[in-house]
Amino acid sequence: MPATRISFEFFPPKSLNASFRLWETVRTLAPLGPEFVSVTYGAGGNTRKLTHEAVTTIQKNYGLNVTAHLTCVDATRAQTLAIAQNYARAGVRDIVALRGDPPVGQSAFQPHPQGFANVCELIQALASTGKFNIRVAAYPDRHPDAADEHADVDWLKRKIDAGATSAITQFFFEAETFFRFRDRCQKAGIDAPIIPGILPIENWTGVKAFAQRCGAPPPVWLYQAFTVANRDDRHDLLAISVCTELCSDLIEGGVEDLHFYTLNKPSLTREVIHALGLAPDAVLEKVA
Ligand code: FAD
Repeated sequence: MPATRISFEFFPPKSLNASFRLWETVRTLAPLGPEFVSVTYGAGGNTRKLTHEAVTTIQKNYGLNVTAHLTCVDATRAQTLAIAQNYARAGVRDIVALRGDPPVGQSAFQPHPQGFANVCELIQALASTGKFNIRVAAYPDRHPDAADEHADVDWLKRKIDAGATSAITQFFFEAETFFRFRDRCQKAGIDAPIIPGILPIENWTGVKAFAQRCGAPPPVWLYQAFTVANRDDRHDLLAISVCTELCSDLIEGGVEDLHFYTLNKPSLTREVIHALGLAPDAVLEKVA
C-alpha cells in the first residue's frame, strides 16, 4: 500500500491571542511532514490581508508548501487577480479557488458587478496565467446550493475542465459517503485526485450545528456516542478514535491523501496521525 500523504488547513488569526494559537499549531504539526498546508480566506473576503500574511509567513519560516484559498466574494476580477499575482510574486503557486459563501446578512451568493460570476470563471482566469496549481472544493454530502443530487458532481466536472487539477472535500462522517461520491465522480469522467477533508471533532455541539446547516446531519450512532462520551467526560478520546477509524477505513479503501481541518488546534490532529502510524520516525523518536 503506498504511503499516505497528509496535509493541514489553517485559518488566518484575527487577534494577537489567535496568532499565538496559529503559530503553536504550525510549529506542532510541521514536523509531521505535510505534503502541503492551506490557509483559508475569510467568509465575505474579510481576511484578504491576513490570509496573505499568514501564507507568506508560514512559507518563509517553515519552508512548507502553502496553498492559499481565494474566493470570488465582494471583489472585482482585477482585485482578485491582483491577489493571485501577489502570491505568484511571493513564490506561492498553489491556490484553492472558491466561489465562497455570501457575506453575513445576504442569503445567496451575489457576484460583484465587475467580479467573477462563478468559480469556473475564476479557475479559467487563474489557469490562463499558467502560474498556478489550482485546487477546488468538492461536496460528498449535497451542498445546500445544489439544484439536484447530480449537481455537485456535474459542477465539479466543470471546475476540473476549467483548469483545476485536484479537489478537497468538505468534511463528512462516514467513509461510505466519500466512496459513493468518488464512484460517482469516476463515472462522470473526473480523473483528478479527490482528497478527503477530515475534521477531528473538537467541539461536538459546534460540528452538529454546522453540519445541520450544511444539510449533512451526522449519523445517529455518532449522536449517541458523543452523548455518552460527554456525560463521562471522554469527548476527546471518542473524537480521536472516531476520526482514526474514519481515516483507517479511507486508507483501506485506497485513499492516498488526507487533508485535516485543524481549526488551528493541533492536538487531536496530531493524535490521529500518530494513531494511524503516519508520523515520521524522527518525530516518534523525539516522543519516546
Ligand atoms: P461551487 O463549487 O461553485 O458551488 C457549490 C455548489 O453549488 C456546487 O457543487 C453546485 O452544486 C452548486 N453551484 C454553484 N454554482 C453553480 C452553477 N453556476 N451551476 C450549477 N451549480 C452550481 N469558504 C470561504 O469563505 N473561505 C475559504 O477559504 C473556504 N475554503 C473552503 C475549502 C474547502 C475544501 C471547502 C470544501 C469549502 C471551503 N469554503 C470556504 C466554503 C465554500 O466557500 C462554500 O461551501 C461555498 O458555499 C461554495 O464555494 P465553492 O467554491 O465550493 O462553490
